[in-house]
Amino acid sequence: MDSEAIEREKRRLIRQTQTDQSLTGSQKAFRTRLFMSGQNYEEVLKHEETEMARQQREKEEAEKKREWLPPTEKDNEEMGCSHYPLGLKVRAACCGQFFPCRVCHDETVTDHKIDRHAVTEMLCMHCNKLQPVAKDCKYCGKDLGRYYCDICKFHDDTPNRDIFHCADCGICRRGERNFCEHLLTLFTGKTDEYFHCQVCNMCMSVSKRGGHTCVPNTMKNDCVVCGLDLFQSRAAVEVLSCGHLLHSKCFKQMINSYHFACPICKKSMMDMSRAWRTMDLEVASQPMPREFVDAKQKMLCNDCGEKAEVNFHFVGLKCPKCNGYNTSALERTGRWPTQEEMISASEQITAMRMRRRAEAVPVEVTNIETMLLQDAEAQEELNDDEMQDEEEDEDGEMIAWSPSDEESDEDDSTAN
Ligand SMILES: [Zn+2]
Ligand SMILES: [Zn+2]
Ligand SMILES: [Zn+2]
Ligand SMILES: [Zn+2]
Ligand SMILES: [Zn+2]
Ligand SMILES: [Zn+2]
Ligand SMILES: [Zn+2]
Ligand SMILES: [Zn+2]
Repeated sequence: MDSEAIEREKRRLIRQTQTDQSLTGSQKAFRTRLFMSGQNYEEVLKHEETEMARQQREKEEAEKKREWLPPTEKDNEEMGCSHYPLGLKVRAACCGQFFPCRVCHDETVTDHKIDRHAVTEMLCMHCNKLQPVAKDCKYCGKDLGRYYCDICKFHDDTPNRDIFHCADCGICRRGERNFCEHLLTLFTGKTDEYFHCQVCNMCMSVSKRGGHTCVPNTMKNDCVVCGLDLFQSRAAVEVLSCGHLLHSKCFKQMINSYHFACPICKKSMMDMSRAWRTMDLEVASQPMPREFVDAKQKMLCNDCGEKAEVNFHFVGLKCPKCNGYNTSALERTGRWPTQEEMISASEQITAMRMRRRAEAVPVEVTNIETMLLQDAEAQEELNDDEMQDEEEDEDGEMIAWSPSDEESDEDDSTAN
C-alpha cells in the first residue's frame, strides 16, 4: 500500500469507529488514538483486549484491597441499638462495616446511604458468628426477630407490631396488610389497613382510598416544612386531602401556629366548614361602612379555584362557589373610598369593634383559631382510632395516617 492508501484506510477506520454505536466513548477514543498512530485493525483489537484485561485486574485488586475486615472486638460488644434492639449486626454491602441497623449506618456514615437489599451477611451477637443474613442464627439457633424480611434483610423483634413488605414500595412498612382483603374481612371482620396507591406510589391508610387527590410519586419530594426526606423517613407522615405530604410532626406544628393551608398548594389542610360558618357570622354582624358599598375585589379561591369579583370585607373575601374564605385577594375593582372617606370608614370600623367587645357579643371572634385547633384534635382522635400505632413514637417511629413512610423508617432501609 502506498502512503496515500494507508492514509485513506486510517481515516476509514477512524470514521467507522466514531460511528459504531456498539462502542463506548472511551473505547472510541482508545481505538482512534491507535488508528492514528498507524496500527491496523487487528493490532488495535489485540491492544484493546490487553487493555481491558488490565483494567479488570486493577478493579479486582482494588476490591481485594478493601477486603472486609473481620468483626472487631467492639463489634462483638455492643448489642442492638436504640432503633432496633436486636441480637445481630448486618454488614453493609457498601462499606463492609457492621451496623445494628440501617438507621445506624445512615446516621454514622455520611457520604452514602445503605442499600438494604444488598446486605448478605450478618453477625450473630449471641455467638459472634459471621454468616449469611437470615431470620435465625445458623450456629446457635437463636431466633433473631419475630419479623424478618428476606428482601429487605430486615429483622424486627418488637412485640405486637404489624409489618408488611410492600412490593410496590420495595420496602417493609409498618401496618397490617394482607394479600386478600376479602378473606381477611371474612375471618377477622377487619379490613386491610393500608393500600398502595399506584399513582402517588406510596402506601396509605385505606381510609384515604377515595379521599385523596393523587400526586404522582409524592413521596419523592421532601417535606416542605423541615426539608427532610419523606420516603425514607422513620417519622409518621400526614397525607393531606390535596395529596401533598408533610411529616405528622410538621403538620401539627403548622396547625399549632395557626397555619391551616397546605404550604405547597394553599388548599385547606382540614375541614374548615365550622370556621367558615363563624366567619359568615362575623361578616353579617359587622356591616361595612357605607363608604365601601361599591368597593369590590377580585379573589382567587385556593380551595376550589374559583376566580370572582366579590364585595370587599375586612374579615375576609368569601368564595361564592365553595363558600370558604381560603382566598387570595387580587386587584381591587369597583369604587373604593377616597383617602378621606377611608379615614372616616376606619374610625367607624374601630368603633364598631369596640362596641362589640363591650357588648361581649357571644359569637365574637369566637377565636376561630382555637376552634380550628379543636377540630384538628378531633380529626386526630379519629385517626388514632384507625391507626393504633401512630402515636407511639415519640422519637419518630410512627407511621402516621399513611403508614407508608414510617415503615420505611422502621425498618431500615433505604428504600430504593
Ligand atoms: Zn455503607
Ligand atoms: Zn439502629
Ligand atoms: Zn448465633
Ligand atoms: Zn421488606
Ligand atoms: Zn393516590
Ligand atoms: Zn417535615
Ligand atoms: Zn397541597
Ligand atoms: Zn371556593
